[in-house]
Amino acid sequence: MTANISLLSIGNELLDGRTTDTNATFLGALLEQHGYSLKYCLKAADDMTDIQDALDYLTSHSDFIVVSGGLGPTSDDLTRDAIAAFCDCPLKLSEEDLLRIKKYYTERGRDFQEANKKQAYFPNGSKIISNHGGTASGFHLSHKRSIILSLPGVPREFRTMLQGDVLPILSSHFPLEQKKQKISCRLFDMPESKAAGIVTGCKLPESVQVGYRAHFPELEISLSTQDKNINLEELYSKISTQLGQEYIYTKNSSYHLPEVVHQLLLESGKTLALAESCTGGGISSVLTDYSGSSKYLRGGAVTYSNESKTTLLGVKEETLRTHGAVSHETVLEMASGARKALQADLALSVSGIAGPEGGSEEKPVGTFFIGLATANDCISRHFLFPAARDMVRTKAIYNALDLIRRYLLGLSLSGRAKD
Ligand code: ATP
Ligand code: MG
Repeated sequence: MTANISLLSIGNELLDGRTTDTNATFLGALLEQHGYSLKYCLKAADDMTDIQDALDYLTSHSDFIVVSGGLGPTSDDLTRDAIAAFCDCPLKLSEEDLLRIKKYYTERGRDFQEANKKQAYFPNGSKIISNHGGTASGFHLSHKRSIILSLPGVPREFRTMLQGDVLPILSSHFPLEQKKQKISCRLFDMPESKAAGIVTGCKLPESVQVGYRAHFPELEISLSTQDKNINLEELYSKISTQLGQEYIYTKNSSYHLPEVVHQLLLESGKTLALAESCTGGGISSVLTDYSGSSKYLRGGAVTYSNESKTTLLGVKEETLRTHGAVSHETVLEMASGARKALQADLALSVSGIAGPEGGSEEKPVGTFFIGLATANDCISRHFLFPAARDMVRTKAIYNALDLIRRYLLGLSLSGRAKD
């Protein structure tokens, strides 16, 4: 039987924007990893009525409800009272848990506070989930058709108890008959609408769920199914061929494009030089996020002015005068100049108009050129991506990285799948 699992996160700070509900993200990912999924996520204020209303909704729509937060010793921590009232199970002191809390304080050389006694009370009939890393233990109990589990909100404690205690409780009540099959891939330079059109055209069986997640400027597509008769790998192979393998930069991994390019550069044994204008050192920055980048990255120059393009990279003044700083000719000279100056195997260059000022009819905001110099060749590509400044710059960084990826994999260097 598939369990309908939900989360109720409690705390005013989650509703007024002070705290991001990272417990929800963690629970969602953990369940996915173990073949389950989260149906609903609700947030409620530190308020008896609101918590009970949320429980009322969730218990009529879910079999398994995880409650996060509000188990602390202060007057605004109301979860245990609210659950006790909702389930009509009065709170009862657990002498055993009280001893655990006292020991927790003694071990840390601190005095036990009377306020903490409140944390040793649990709804009558519930089972305690002991907390080994904090003062508030959790508990679980059955209510009508649902199981309610209450855990402390402190993310570290919530996570430890979820993995150590809640997963075994979940799988003992709701064993998975068939682990969910899941395949995901990440693409770059494929518009979401185009990818969705291609996937729809593949006419997948109804029991296969398709998910799209745009994480600018990347796109993740996932296929999943509980149906054991489906050969998901075969379906994926069909879809990826239709999408174009060259757009898929990773399969079944959480890597972003920069990390994939970093790995490819390491494996290639080739060195790289950078000449950046509108990206302001962004390519250099994303690659040096990864340890080991010194093995291939020779260095880079942020040549923002015409003068620096000439003095540091040897771009001809005439080239700049005739074609402008944002042109095929300039990025070609920037790339070959950087390659020579830094004695690298490969060099990437970028020059563009990130906006919002500086655009013209001929070269509107969002125009950028990328150059790639290798031992045998020097090529350049023109791109137009009219958008906000930060997005143009990010897109330029990713397109430059994608050009290197394509080069190292021997793929076509032209890029972008049109809508
Ligand atoms: P404690 O026994 O430590 O008081 P608690 O169960 O009462 O635990 P809260 O008081 O609700 O937990 O929260 C403790 C800390 O954890 C706060 O810093 C809070 O912002 C954070 N926190 C609570 N809920 C979440 C959540 N859903 N996601 C991320 N952080 C959270
Ligand atoms: Mg709280």
